[in-house]
Amino acid sequence: AKLRAVDGSGIGADYDDVRLIQEICKSLLVSDEKLRELMDLMLLSMEEGLAKETASTAAVKMLPSYVRSVPNGTESGHFLALDLGGTNFRVLLITLDGKKADMVSKIYRIPDSLMKGTGQVLFDHIADCLAKFMVEHDLSGKPKLPLGFTFSFPCRQEGLTCARLINWTKGFSAAGVEGKDVVTLLREACQRRKDVDIDVVAVLNDTTGTLMACAHKENTCQVGVIVGTGTNACYVEKISRCGKLDGEMDPNDGPDEVIINTEWGAFGDDGRMDSVRTEFDRNVDANSINPGKQIFEKMISGMYMGELVRVVLEHLTKEGLLFEGSTSTALFRRGAFPTKYVSEIESDLHEEDRTFQNTFNILEDLGLERITPTDCANVAYVCSLVSARAAHLCAAGIAVLLNRMQKPMVTVGVDGSVYRFHPTFKQLLDQKIDQLVDRGLEFQLMLSEDGSGKGAALVAAVACRVEQERVQ
Ligand code: BGC
Ligand code: MG
Repeated sequence: AKLRAVDGSGIGADYDDVRLIQEICKSLLVSDEKLRELMDLMLLSMEEGLAKETASTAAVKMLPSYVRSVPNGTESGHFLALDLGGTNFRVLLITLDGKKADMVSKIYRIPDSLMKGTGQVLFDHIADCLAKFMVEHDLSGKPKLPLGFTFSFPCRQEGLTCARLINWTKGFSAAGVEGKDVVTLLREACQRRKDVDIDVVAVLNDTTGTLMACAHKENTCQVGVIVGTGTNACYVEKISRCGKLDGEMDPNDGPDEVIINTEWGAFGDDGRMDSVRTEFDRNVDANSINPGKQIFEKMISGMYMGELVRVVLEHLTKEGLLFEGSTSTALFRRGAFPTKYVSEIESDLHEEDRTFQNTFNILEDLGLERITPTDCANVAYVCSLVSARAAHLCAAGIAVLLNRMQKPMVTVGVDGSVYRFHPTFKQLLDQKIDQLVDRGLEFQLMLSEDGSGKGAALVAAVACRVEQERVQ
């Protein structure tokens, strides 16, 4: 017989089921001790990514961005920016004037078929959007504007204007791009249509853009983090600590630091996350388009968070612990539970009345029928475990960077849909970094507004400035 009890909020709780649910979900808890173990492993992975001997095989690639100066506030001019790598593709026109930045932008959808088609068709589409944007903003036929290309995938750069895609992530798989320089692919696409003439002066990762956009406002910014569709971080590193740059980049010629794009999303691709991965993580990974890849990212970012929750709910339903064992086809369908549901459901946990209205509506939309208040509370509980784990893993990553840098005060610029829209992610992230960071180191998290756009313009501006200084 099952005990029905009523907790303080007036919700009927079935203690036996709740206990079983907690038992099953226990694997989603990551203790501080475990987090510290992961931090040691992540630091090791990062060091492998930076060292000459191990760089080519390291899971965490630690890619040099060739950006060696943060903005100094004198950047000015008009710039174009392209932003490819999240759910949308954007074209932007940015005007920098010292500390001010104005922009107009337009979002273009990238249909799934283009993400997964051929590189040529994908880049033709990008060039087409750019051409339309230039006509709309009366830029065609005018002197070329310097363009910054934010391309948010792991790339091996050979300079500021050359970026070879190592591998796609986040649901992209367009053929014929891996191993190629995406700037060349973009230029070729523009040449094929003849009505757009471009001057690409920089290609950058979105984390670099985020760092630059934040540094433009706050000069202690030395780390850029994205927790959106994917996750990643970059930071300012001493060139002398990047063994693989020996003889490639001279710390005595120009600034002695460079922004390193960690590509931490691939942490664990070599098995170093195995002790914390759950059967739910393995399920999500196995059914993704890149099994075995981006293991850390798959435990954190928006492309996977909802799916992880869905997989847990599917399991609990099959165990008869939710919805009185009844189900819907939607709940068992891959991708049917977008990450925005996680945010909406968890926001119910912060309502005074605890009526779980969002949760109820979402479950109803999924076609579930026998939804009790206890079910809603349990679903919200699962969401909160998955998102808290994501925040804690991300915090561990940031703490590794802060501890490595040992700078007394660092601002961390952060952007991405999970960071922005999840009701508690920011706070959990902040608190956990605070617990994991070395004593005496200060940090602050700062929302970095539109790094992919403004950051691209800033990198372009800094590139133009450095180039002018060089020819003078
Ligand atoms: C990519 C990174 C990117 C991150 C956030 C990851 O999947 O590999 O390059 O910075 O997503 O967009
Ligand atoms: Mg983005």
